[in-house]
Amino acid sequence: MTNLPHVSPSVVGLQTRLVIETLTQVVPGTEIVEIVAESDETIPGFVVESWVAPGSENSLSHIRKRVLGQLGGQTAVGSFSCMISGVAWGVLVEAIEVQDGAVMGALVVARQGRAWSSRERALVKAFGGLLSHAATLSTRESALLDQRRLDELVGQVAERLMSASSRTRQNVLSWTIRVLAEFLGADVAFLRRNDHSRGLSILEAEWPPREIPDPDPLGEVPFDSDPVFAALRNLRAPFYLTGEADAGDEYLDRVEKGSGVQLVGGAAVPLLLADMTWGVLGFLHFRLHAWSPEEVSTLQAIASMLMQLQARIDAEGRTEYNALHDDLTGLPNRRALLQELEDRLEAHRKTAVLFFDLDRFKVMNDFLGHASGDRVLTTIGDRIRTSIRPNDFAARLGGDEFVILVGEVSGEMEVMATAYRILGVIGEPIDFAGQQVSHTASVGIVLSRPGLRNGMELLGWADVAMYAAKRQGRNQAVVFDDVLQELVSERSKTELTLREAIESDGLRLHYQPEVDLRTGRLLAVEALVRWEHPTRGLLPASAFITVAEETGLVVDMGRWVFTEACRQLAAWRREYPDLPLIVRVNMSPAEFVISGLVEFVEDRLRVYDIPGERLCIEVTEHAVLQEPEQTARILRGFQALGVEIAIDDFGTGYASFTELKRLPVNLLKLDQTFVQGIITDPSDRAIVEAIIQLGRALDLGMIAEGIECSATIDKLLELGCHRGQGYLMSVPMSAEELAPVLNAGAIALSVFRPAGKVAPALADRSL
Ligand code: C2E
Ligand code: MG
Ligand code: MG
Repeated sequence: MTNLPHVSPSVVGLQTRLVIETLTQVVPGTEIVEIVAESDETIPGFVVESWVAPGSENSLSHIRKRVLGQLGGQTAVGSFSCMISGVAWGVLVEAIEVQDGAVMGALVVARQGRAWSSRERALVKAFGGLLSHAATLSTRESALLDQRRLDELVGQVAERLMSASSRTRQNVLSWTIRVLAEFLGADVAFLRRNDHSRGLSILEAEWPPREIPDPDPLGEVPFDSDPVFAALRNLRAPFYLTGEADAGDEYLDRVEKGSGVQLVGGAAVPLLLADMTWGVLGFLHFRLHAWSPEEVSTLQAIASMLMQLQARIDAEGRTEYNALHDDLTGLPNRRALLQELEDRLEAHRKTAVLFFDLDRFKVMNDFLGHASGDRVLTTIGDRIRTSIRPNDFAARLGGDEFVILVGEVSGEMEVMATAYRILGVIGEPIDFAGQQVSHTASVGIVLSRPGLRNGMELLGWADVAMYAAKRQGRNQAVVFDDVLQELVSERSKTELTLREAIESDGLRLHYQPEVDLRTGRLLAVEALVRWEHPTRGLLPASAFITVAEETGLVVDMGRWVFTEACRQLAAWRREYPDLPLIVRVNMSPAEFVISGLVEFVEDRLRVYDIPGERLCIEVTEHAVLQEPEQTARILRGFQALGVEIAIDDFGTGYASFTELKRLPVNLLKLDQTFVQGIITDPSDRAIVEAIIQLGRALDLGMIAEGIECSATIDKLLELGCHRGQGYLMSVPMSAEELAPVLNAGAIALSVFRPAGKVAPALADRSL
């Protein structure tokens, strides 16, 4: 027994018992053998073990007191003699010390009267040495074991936290603090979050579960409630509570009220996130507990892992927030709206959808500039947000469209009242540097019905009703009714058959000649799409172009039209090699949004071997205004191919002089409503005159559309516009029907100029 093997604390426990037993047998007359330790925690595995001969119990407590006094540091540890109840005792004391010299306890052997022989002294000393050795090994081993357990704990928690998500966060937090509390032998564990903006410490998780009083004194606690909570506010380093002196009465009272227990001590480590005290992780004991540095650093490691989890959850939350919110107004976006709407339909909650579209917002945006336009949208977004009821839900769909879901509605009247109330709020003026600008909006309303589950469809109907409101003169609300329902189903039928027509050769192109109004010479033809409808016969573009544009079918349709126009032009170029014919093709704004348009045009020109100058693309003023940057880029692409560009229906939009100057435009096509008005309506005449002057200033060609009577031509010529097209000269025709005009290279003046009215010999400015 000179050397104990590498031992674990539990083995040491066994050895101490053996040492005591051996000593009682080998030292004659021994009455007391005891291993005294300062506390059961100071020598890992050592149990305060003693053997005492019957009748000597009193002496034992006397001797132990004296030895403990020595261990307490007042005197050096050593043997002594003493008188107990008139009897002399000889007490041998051997210090049990670990390698670094720290005295952890003592081996005590005592008996009455007799002096100790040197052999006995040596024996006790040897056993003392043995125990010191065991204590050294055991302490070291215990530290290693503790460290290993701490490492394992960190590993275990890390693994659990790694796989946590915002959904499982709460469970994982509860699990983590429970495991930690059990490991540390703590009586209570908690995790609190700091809400710095409200000055509160908020309980997020705790262990063990407690009966929570209402209100809970430990739930949301203002930092300024007591010194402990004040310390948690910006805690940066571990915080220890070692009894009343640190805690203060207020804190102890609060804990007692919240949990019914009296606290003795505890420790908290800060949860630090991005340089801020996010919260604290705390452990409380109802008895004394000394925290080892290893325990505290483990807690700090776990605190940092918890914050990594929090940072990840926050980032995920932000991504999710962004995916469901509009950045400009902060309102929920289309996706969030559809989700909410479908949830409501699913739960059979009666809901009204109010679809708001600001009236003439684009004009306002162009007029005031985009920054001001954004301000209008955010202001209106805020007004909507603050004027809805708690059960309502507001979203911005993009652009100038807002939707409100109104919950628990009793009927149409109530919804109408709500719609007009919101219209009133929207319409309040907004101040722009002293200038008051007011906005109106149009609202489409649709009420949910039992059995209807499709949120998209409902939203689509509200949109239809909103357009009806616009048609009725704006700044009003229209409820989606049977008439609109009929329109929608008609429309969806049209969409279906039109798709079929595009895919299976149901479209045709007609061509309307454009002539020199003075001579009848053919200058160009405009390609206009026609639909060979299975039941309704040949339909003009005006009968289906809106549906095509709204459904996106116009993109495929446009590709077909452009290809067909090129094919036809290539055929004409072979047939009439001397005719300098130009074909004008219409393109919708929707076609401009799809990428690769310029490449497509270039490819068609190459395939059909057509010089760019033979083609002209007509875009409406609205297309130019809608996406000015993108449109400008595409138009420059066309220009680079030599293709002419005409602005169609000019005068109906609000394109400004500066905008036109920025774009590579060659021609303006005067909208037919003004053209037809020039002989009857002085203001139309004034507009046309102004446009012609603008065109001249910008060196643009000018074409009058929709000429139906000869008097119009007189006026146009007088104003200086020499090009035109219209039913008076020719309706749009198929390529075959157009053959005589192409052969003649002109439309005879006699067709559209009554006898005697010959064009004045003006200089031909328009060519
Ligand atoms: P637009 O480009 O302004 O075409 C002129 C429209 O006015 C044509 O109607 C034409 O038939 C009609 N029109 C011509 N002369 C007269 C007249 O003297 N009086 C009256 N009242 N109308 C006249 P259509 O073919 O129904 O086309 C309507 C609109 O549809 C076109 O207006 C154009 O914006 C669009 N469109 C036509 N074809 C296409 C196409 O292939 N692609 C695209 N994206 N849009 C097209
Ligand atoms: Mg046109
Ligand atoms: Mg037009």
